[in-house]
Amino acid sequence: MRDCIYLDNNATTKVDEEVIGAMLPYLTLYYGNPSSMHHFGGQVGKAVKTAREQVASLLGAEASEIVFTSCGTEGDNAAIRAALTAQPKKKHIITTEVEHPAVLNLCKNLERQGYTVTYLSVNGKGQLDLDELEAALTGNTAIVSVMYANNETGVVFPIEQIGQMAKEYGAIFHVDAVQAVGKIPLNMKTSTIDLLTLSGHKIHAPKGIGALYVRKGTRFRPLLIGGHQERGRRGGTENVAGIVALGKAAELAEYHLANVEHEQHLRDYLEQTILTNIPNTVVNGDSSQRLPNTTNIGFKYIEGEAILLSMDKYGICASSGSACTSGSLEPSHVLRAMGLPYSILHGSIRFSLSRYTTKEEIERVLEVVPEIISRLRELSPFNSDDAEWLV
Ligand code: PLP
Repeated sequence: MRDCIYLDNNATTKVDEEVIGAMLPYLTLYYGNPSSMHHFGGQVGKAVKTAREQVASLLGAEASEIVFTSCGTEGDNAAIRAALTAQPKKKHIITTEVEHPAVLNLCKNLERQGYTVTYLSVNGKGQLDLDELEAALTGNTAIVSVMYANNETGVVFPIEQIGQMAKEYGAIFHVDAVQAVGKIPLNMKTSTIDLLTLSGHKIHAPKGIGALYVRKGTRFRPLLIGGHQERGRRGGTENVAGIVALGKAAELAEYHLANVEHEQHLRDYLEQTILTNIPNTVVNGDSSQRLPNTTNIGFKYIEGEAILLSMDKYGICASSGSACTSGSLEPSHVLRAMGLPYSILHGSIRFSLSRYTTKEEIERVLEVVPEIISRLRELSPFNSDDAEWLV
């Protein structure tokens, strides 16, 4: 396996060594079932309890409000379907055009089942217009589902204002916080959020584990109907090693929240140097309300995929859209929703840092990227906005 400069942490993160250390005994020594009556299972149950407390602490929630899931996608599906099943008379959903496919594709599916969905638009900076939300809300709105921060641009939405508005109409408020958890301090005690999704592999836990926060008293129905695990909110024998890993990752994330400026400084240095040294570059999305680790930069007149492949040759990993949509040459639905011109839509790269990112790595990227861009620009048939006609 080749070493790389990994700047694709919004796609997934490296598993922390301490997390591996915490979870391993639950794959080897302590393999009991946490629901068993015997002592061997009971000690595993205690580890699950500790993990639940660790995740709750990161969110400023009660341990009883945490439901373990398999991933962020499951959390989003469970939250939205729970809100609909618990309020069978309400047939309206509000979400945004820039959600992750875990929400967007579920909503499209629900439209085919007779639900009405309002997809709130964003402006050129990726921001929502709350007047549009006000106009869409009715007493028939079962759920408002809005992401905390966008995975592609890092733009953060005004979550508490949205929550206040949803409450006035009696709608359940779900937040996909997969990208915000561990990067922004959260406190469910003072929040309007009813349901919140998080995913382990974005916070240095392994893939295959996540959690859903369910505010005490929120009407809820399980997505996975089965045994009484998770207090009847999610059937299925627990992924104990994954849960222990998520607990440890949450504890570490809470600790490292105090140092997110490390990522922010490196991100700002990377972004500013690129903007200053490479002509025809722009930052996509509102840079004042943004995750500390993310920058999405448009390199005009060249293809993002060509930039990615060239960077890959130097061992630099980034992304040209969300991991789920890359592999197709379709421009990102998020950048399209922002109405960006063709020349930026096709040449945008997301760099997403982590607590492991070093100054040396950023220096290396800053050495390599200008060379790549100038070489690709020489080869490009486009060098001005005349290319807009290609839209
Ligand atoms: N929501 C957002 C905002 C994401 O960025 C992702 C993953 O990229 C997901 C949901 C899905 O999470 P998972 O990969 O754990 O299913």
